[in-house]
Amino acid sequence: MATVLERVRALIERLSPAPICDDCIAEKLDLSVRQHANHKSRELAGAPGFERRKDICSICCGDKIVIRRTSR
Ligand SMILES: [Zn+2]
Repeated sequence: MATVLERVRALIERLSPAPICDDCIAEKLDLSVRQHANHKSRELAGAPGFERRKDICSICCGDKIVIRRTSR
């Protein structure tokens, strides 16, 4: 069974190179706690190949902190 972090990573990679915000990650993965998505997204932002910054979310079109897979 995949961990939340693995599911978040898979979702971001599937959307790549489009960015996604924490709220949409929580909604897409059906996470009960929004903070959970925030925490995982922060964790991934420290990993190589991921970028977290303020931008337009590709799902909700909101101008917020998003994360995306950078192309390599
Ligand atoms: Zn969004």
